[in-house]
Amino acid sequence: MIQETPISNSNYFLPHREGRGWVSLLSPSDKALWLQLLSAARHIVITCHRGPDGDAIGSTTALASWLRRHYPEADIRVVAPTIFPDFLKWMPGAEDILIYEKHEDEVRPIIEHSDLVILCDHGELKRMWTLGDVVRDHPTPRIMIDHHLDPEQGIADLVISHPDLSSTCEVLLRVILELEPLLADGCPASSLPLLTHDEAVSLYTGMMTDTGAFTYASTRPEIYELISILLQHGIDKDKIYRNVFFTYSPNRLKLQGYMLYAKLDVWKKAHTSIMTFTNAERRRFGTLNGDTEGLVNLPLQILGMKLSIFLREDTEHPCIRVSLRSVDDFPCNEMAAEFFGGGGHKNAAGGEIWGTMDDAVAIAKKAVQKFLPLLKE
Ligand code: 5GP
Ligand code: MN
Repeated sequence: MIQETPISNSNYFLPHREGRGWVSLLSPSDKALWLQLLSAARHIVITCHRGPDGDAIGSTTALASWLRRHYPEADIRVVAPTIFPDFLKWMPGAEDILIYEKHEDEVRPIIEHSDLVILCDHGELKRMWTLGDVVRDHPTPRIMIDHHLDPEQGIADLVISHPDLSSTCEVLLRVILELEPLLADGCPASSLPLLTHDEAVSLYTGMMTDTGAFTYASTRPEIYELISILLQHGIDKDKIYRNVFFTYSPNRLKLQGYMLYAKLDVWKKAHTSIMTFTNAERRRFGTLNGDTEGLVNLPLQILGMKLSIFLREDTEHPCIRVSLRSVDDFPCNEMAAEFFGGGGHKNAAGGEIWGTMDDAVAIAKKAVQKFLPLLKE
């Protein structure tokens, strides 16, 4: 049984740590704008990117819960453009997320009646699929909370975008820590706990999933101080790990064996591996939504491997989804932007090819050829 430890808000006021490398994420004018936008809003919609991952679900659910506590008069909804994987369904608040692709007629009016939209875990409206058009067409203030490179200009009034941080959940936790003293100043919010247990669980899950359980993009010491704060709110980090990573069906593990045995193609000179996954194979293995998650990481366990490319047929559209993972300095995001119409981070990026699997493999070969000088070393 996990005990929720009562914690005084003032323990975690960060700016005094600036001398040790903590930098404020919010300028004084950002804070003023946040307070102004939030106090004016009555119908708030929080959204994330299509194909939500742990960071998208973690940041939207934690933010929704935190806002409901601090702005009880506002109606706060979380909208995801598309369904999310089954292994995230246990997350607190996930059951309240509205799925736009399933309930378009219900969700569209919610966006159209909102007076504030908060975009989490993406910096471009097109990453919300057609929901991005609905949001773009609705003239209301927007806040962006994100950690992707090159946020789209002009889509948010307040942009809190930090590509140097591990995850949107990390950005959000630091924003909460910076806002808390302001909200606590002479208002009833001072009696509220910094985070609820569930908010801490959501935030930890996003930080954990976006860093491969703290094996990449997680070298800055601040992350561990933030984890320490979350642990003090009673989270069981080992259980969260199992909830996310030990959820395979027998078919999922067999699929993994099959992919590694039959589908792994290693381009030795380029220190690159490629795997393809078709809808016929999806049917053969009874593959469920989310079952292919993580397969792209496996080839990086090969000694000297620098880049892993995973191509999978989309289930709904005639396109191939592309996932790229790398180690060290190889820029997956540059390759994704130049060859696969996408983007992402240095070590994890993605995109898509509108064409056949053969087209996608041919483009992947071209991409590797172009980046060969970086891969060969
Ligand atoms: P995944 O391989 O897990 O689908 O995506 C890895 C990362 O690549 C995501 O966290 C996201 O940052 C980025 N990404 C994936 N697909 C796209 C895309 O179509 N466009 C952009 N800009 N980034 C993407
Ligand atoms: Mn993220």
